[in-house]
Amino acid sequence: MLMPTPVPPLRNAMSIDVEDYFQVSAFAPYIRRDDWHGLECRVERNIAAILALLAEKDVKATFFTLGWIAERYPQVVRAIVAGGHELASHGYGHERASDLSPAAFLEDIASAKKLLEDLGGVAVTGYRAPSFSIGKGNLWAFDVLRDAGYRYSSSVYPIAHDHYGMPDSPRFAYPVREGLLEIPVTTVRMGSRNLPSSGGGYFRLLPYALSRWMIRRVNEVDGESAVFYFQPGEIDVHQPRIAGIDAKTRFRHYVNIPRVEARLGRLLDDFRWGRMDEIFLGRESSRPASAPSLSPA
Ligand SMILES: [Zn+2]
Repeated sequence: MLMPTPVPPLRNAMSIDVEDYFQVSAFAPYIRRDDWHGLECRVERNIAAILALLAEKDVKATFFTLGWIAERYPQVVRAIVAGGHELASHGYGHERASDLSPAAFLEDIASAKKLLEDLGGVAVTGYRAPSFSIGKGNLWAFDVLRDAGYRYSSSVYPIAHDHYGMPDSPRFAYPVREGLLEIPVTTVRMGSRNLPSSGGGYFRLLPYALSRWMIRRVNEVDGESAVFYFQPGEIDVHQPRIAGIDAKTRFRHYVNIPRVEARLGRLLDDFRWGRMDEIFLGRESSRPASAPSLSPA
């Protein structure tokens, strides 16, 4: 066994998709968008809990925020910015990019960017598509993102999955258009397959030690920063239960929620973390000088 190299560990990117429990894509068949406004909102208290946890651990993160949420909860946007975190865009209405025409996609991402910038008073340069919905069928979305002034996207999940994924796309940050980086969420390569290693339902389902091992492997074997994500509803033990959903969706959405907050605390302790823009756009020196640069020059 080789001794670990004596350089400081890489920083990984921590990201949160700011949406409410009833907006997750898996519930789209059960909850009409027109009914969103009448449901109990939990996002404000959940983001407050997340901001408190990050402050306690002295971690800055990236918040991919829905325009729909920003419009109704401007105080949430301001709290994110006040905490020193990166304000980024999750689009306006949580529609999958793959369900929209190029014109409708432009409207969605441009309106969200403007809304967030007006409320937050900061430039918004990052975007994550709902349900990682950029793939082979809608690569035009990258042109639209660049033209709308975004500088990076974190919208491709290089795995095979029943709802999303482009398993043969690059696993780490790469320039997907001139002036636009794609920063995929993290996978571990095992044989000829990419395994999801970056949060979501997998983080709730798998033992914590396995999630930790996967991120370590990406840092130490691939020599790359990992990208981790979660949603506010994943720490919310008391969220209203959605009735009538199928067993698979129910399991995926609710499994192990009571364990997540403590697990996130361990994860924040076990690695170094930072904002997407600092780590990948070089907005601040975040990598040890002796490590190779991730920036595509
Ligand atoms: Zn989302």
